[in-house]
Amino acid sequence: MKAPSFAYAKPRSLEEAFPLLERPGARILAGGQSLIPSLNMRLSTPELLVDIGALSRLKEISSQPGGLRIGALVTHAEIERSADILLQVPLLADAAPHIAHPAIRNRGTLGGSLALADPAAEYPACALALNATLILQSRKAERRVPAASFFKGLFETDIRPGELLVAAEFPKVSRSVFLELARRNGDYAIVGLAGVADASGKRIAFFGVEAKPILAVQAAKAKSLEEAKALLAKDLQPTADLYNTAATKLHLAGVLLARAWNTLSKPH
Ligand SMILES: Cc1cc2nc3c(=O)[nH]c(=O)nc-3n(C[C@H](O)[C@H](O)[C@H](O)COP(=O)(O)OP(=O)(O)OC[C@H]3O[C@@H](n4cnc5c(N)ncnc54)[C@H](O)[C@@H]3O)c2cc1C
Repeated sequence: MKAPSFAYAKPRSLEEAFPLLERPGARILAGGQSLIPSLNMRLSTPELLVDIGALSRLKEISSQPGGLRIGALVTHAEIERSADILLQVPLLADAAPHIAHPAIRNRGTLGGSLALADPAAEYPACALALNATLILQSRKAERRVPAASFFKGLFETDIRPGELLVAAEFPKVSRSVFLELARRNGDYAIVGLAGVADASGKRIAFFGVEAKPILAVQAAKAKSLEEAKALLAKDLQPTADLYNTAATKLHLAGVLLARAWNTLSKPH
């Protein structure tokens, strides 16, 4: 099928972008790796596509006290290769190669993935585990939203009409584990785990399990793996998909937890 007809604009600055984003029926186009297929399948019928690809400020990766600010237009391939990310937020560098295939990773963006909030996507779970801050900008104001309140449900986020996700800030966390079970390399995850640990404890996020990424709060506080696996059933309420029952998903989450446990439990 072909996409429905739509108007197209490519603003050169944020100042030019905001009035376009405020128009009824406007939709942001970033890497297009999710939006274009959804247009071609007629799942989405925007009146105006606002291509943000020329907003160069959104392509920057910059160091900040305590971590990194990564622009919304930084691609999955750039995240995979960035020395700064590997050093300061290795969880993201470990997650990126699990996203689709190289051709998609060359165009797909961090901001597009976070804004789409696919329940089986890698970055939303990383953002939650890392306690990232998402930076949303509109013509009038900037809002800083913690990942825990940004992801609201199935493909649902806290982005308001007229707002653009411009960047995400990630704290430096060197101890992390990223694991994913998928049917084939490059497929969306059946179940995945993004975990970090520092002196304050563990933060373990699961994805592909519920409608949005979810922190296993009780399991993360457990003193042993056995206790953690038992508590996981309280933390997660998996939803079945076409191929896996809720019980299978819970079992697989336990398998990933067991694989991650030793790394996350080493003394600091
Ligand atoms: C075959 C295939 C396999 C894939 N496998 C995976 C996978 O395993 N894991 C995974 O995570 N993803 C996967 N993807 C999706 C891919 O990672 C996309 O790149 C990503 O989800 C969206 O990024 P994008 O830049 O392409 O966004 P787009 O497709 O351009 O936009 C996606 C949505 O986000 C909105 N949006 C984009 N940028 C912003 C912004 N800065 N602020 C506000 N809203 C914005 C758009 O309006 C749109 O609604 C796959 C895609 C394909 C085609």
